Amino acid sequence: MNFADSEVVGAILTGAGYGLAPSVEEADFVLVNTCAIRDNAEQRVRHRVRELRALQGRNKRLRIGILGCMAERLQSRLMAEEENVSFVCGPDAYRRLPQLLTQVREGQHAAEVDLSTTETYADIEPVRLASNGISAYISIMRGCQNYCSYCVVPYTRGRERSRDPETIVAEARSLFEKGYREVTLLGQNVNSYSWGVQDNIVGFPELMDRVASVDPRLRVRFATSHPKDLSDELLAVMARHENICRCIHLPVQSGSNRMLKAMNRKYTVEWYLDRVAAIRRYLPDCSITTDVIAGFCGETEEDHQATLELFRKVRYDYAYMFKYSEREGTYAQRHMPDDIADEEKTRRLNEIIALQGQIALENNREEVGREYEVLVEGESHRSKERLFGRNSQNKVLVFDRGDAAPGTYRRVRVTDCTAATLLGELVG
Ligand code: SAH
Ligand code: SF4
Repeated sequence: MNFADSEVVGAILTGAGYGLAPSVEEADFVLVNTCAIRDNAEQRVRHRVRELRALQGRNKRLRIGILGCMAERLQSRLMAEEENVSFVCGPDAYRRLPQLLTQVREGQHAAEVDLSTTETYADIEPVRLASNGISAYISIMRGCQNYCSYCVVPYTRGRERSRDPETIVAEARSLFEKGYREVTLLGQNVNSYSWGVQDNIVGFPELMDRVASVDPRLRVRFATSHPKDLSDELLAVMARHENICRCIHLPVQSGSNRMLKAMNRKYTVEWYLDRVAAIRRYLPDCSITTDVIAGFCGETEEDHQATLELFRKVRYDYAYMFKYSEREGTYAQRHMPDDIADEEKTRRLNEIIALQGQIALENNREEVGREYEVLVEGESHRSKERLFGRNSQNKVLVFDRGDAAPGTYRRVRVTDCTAATLLGELVG
């Protein structure tokens, strides 16, 4: 999400006559786009901002600004706490950045943190930063109002709003024409995408259908799906389009109904498993990935065991695993004690990580001998002789270069694996 936002910021500032500096040493402004989801994300930003002080000592013109969720959450307080920061700009205020930079150049400090109920930056064609020219993100909606009790996003990114589907399809088409072969549609809860009024509403399944119809050679991915809204209709659309990737990120957060209720997730373990069964029914070769939180308020050993049990049942291909981090202003912070000791959170998290590592390796071992169509992305980090790409399931395959070229589709047979990567050879 932040990456996509930085590309919008890039477009707004390029449009106002600014350009990307060749290196941070030569920059007049450093803009740090930030996440506020967990405390450690914020601590990393503070560390980076303090490191920039040395650079400011050598380059007196250099001004630092903080963008994104941390700017929204802390507003002007951030400039008081980090004295070398000259401006803050929240996620709905990026159109004001050119004016902000002018003020800052005149020596002022400035904060733009108004949230909007309508801003989607629909008309802005993002500047693709650090792009491989093959895959790109398209933001389809902004904000979230699910108010999961642990989560700061509804406070930092405002109310949910969807972007005009015409502009989304046009962006996908323009990317395809420039040679891109994969787009990922982004939103906090893409299943609640909704554009239009009354009997003329475009929902997420229809949007997917339209984007997938741009060209069968354009792969389409999406994130994130909230389990409460994952519909059979969407799964049916996916089944109809081979170029919609067989990979669904379905964050579960906990395997205990008691915790899911406390988290305000609005589904039960039974509902979640029913959705997993529906995915397997419509898309038998679909990979499923998740997010999970260890040590949420009041989590007992029994709740934790229920999470491990759920992991054993679903057998995810990948999981993002986190320790609960209390966030100021959330329902949990206001009403529920953060009562699991840090060492205990770490122990539980490590147990989940170990189990998931084992499952991912076992899943990958079953892949040996299978063949996949791989979108070649580039050279493997380890060797120039090898290339890497992904299959529709979003698994990384590394294989001998042969006559393959980035940006093309090639068939690859899996010959070996680790928990994170499939190793293979070109077929034909
Ligand atoms: N909108 C997405 C998630 C966005 S945040 C969804 O609902 O699935 C990405 C992940 O960060 C969440 O899925 C959750 O696992 C994690 N997360 C959010 N708030 C957190 C917190 N306070 N502590 C630890 N992890 C958190
Ligand atoms: Fe946060 Fe829940 Fe919204 Fe995801 S759905 S961004 S976890 S409030």
